[in-house]
Amino acid sequence: MILILKSEVTDDQIRHVLERVDQLGLQAHLSRGTFRTIVGIIGDEEKLRAEPLRAIPGVLEVVPVLPPYKLASLDAHPQPSIVTVGGGSSRPAKFGGGHLGLIAGPCAVESPERMFRLAEVVRRSGGHVLRGGAYKPRTSPYSFQGLGEEGLRILRDAGDSQQLPIVTEVTDPRLVETVARYADMIQVGARNMQNFVLLTEVGKAGLPVLLKRGMSASVEDLLMSAEYVLSQGTSDVVLCERGIKGFDKTTRNLYDVASVAAVKRLSHLPIIVDPSHATGRPDLIPACALAGVAVGADGVHIEIHDKPEEAKSDGPQALLPEQYRELVEQIRRIAEVVGKRID
Ligand code: PEP
Ligand code: MN
Repeated sequence: MILILKSEVTDDQIRHVLERVDQLGLQAHLSRGTFRTIVGIIGDEEKLRAEPLRAIPGVLEVVPVLPPYKLASLDAHPQPSIVTVGGGSSRPAKFGGGHLGLIAGPCAVESPERMFRLAEVVRRSGGHVLRGGAYKPRTSPYSFQGLGEEGLRILRDAGDSQQLPIVTEVTDPRLVETVARYADMIQVGARNMQNFVLLTEVGKAGLPVLLKRGMSASVEDLLMSAEYVLSQGTSDVVLCERGIKGFDKTTRNLYDVASVAAVKRLSHLPIIVDPSHATGRPDLIPACALAGVAVGADGVHIEIHDKPEEAKSDGPQALLPEQYRELVEQIRRIAEVVGKRID
């Protein structure tokens, strides 16, 4: 930690700063420049983080040397993590460390027939994980909220019918146990990225977690939310860039593809892209999916539907089965160029 002192700092104030550091049991190194005086503090930065150092008279700024997330950081784990989803009744899917994982399925679980049909599409196209929301976090309380536990059962059976692991969203800490009974991976959606009670419960479930970036969350916020999950003992977190709020109505959200490359420099955790929610436009989704793979994403998450006009949620952004099949072929080609394996 480095303290930058104010230009008008007095000798008394400097003495007091050094005393405070000493009281905390840490070592201070004073460095007086022509225009600024700084204090380098050696010792446990975690301990310092809890202290209101900027409240000490004469302190202008506190500059941490380490990132505030420990377990999620590259320092903690210099090698990329590989997250495995499924196994048992399904073929395991891998994300990270050179493995590109493909998640696809409808926004919501709607009916058994449709879910079984789409599971077959995902498997035949080369997808690895079947998705579908049973608990839908809708902006309006009057919109379709999902089939609940019945939806979980349908998704599980549809996944099993094709030996695909399943991922589904949990919206409430009280439902984590129920969702964990069915799912191979638990999704925390954008609207809940900073629901810390939910993150803590999900972290205890013992399943891999798909953590989507909040729509107004910074990359550091996303990594801090991952830290919540990791701090509960799980090591399997896959991050997901799904777009942030922008001012331009051209796309549903602003697809921040640079965040993927940035996360690679900060964290060992796999990060995938979700161009479906990021753009909301089937005509842009394929190109944006490929861009994500090109910048280093460890997977691609796509919403598909066989009859988008009948979909109970996010129909306008769904790719048709045939479009998804084609996209997977294109993803394969880019994956080869960037040295990623699609199992
Ligand atoms: C979803 O995956 O259907 C979803 C609601 O995503 P997000 O949380 O990214 O909006
Ligand atoms: Mn959706």
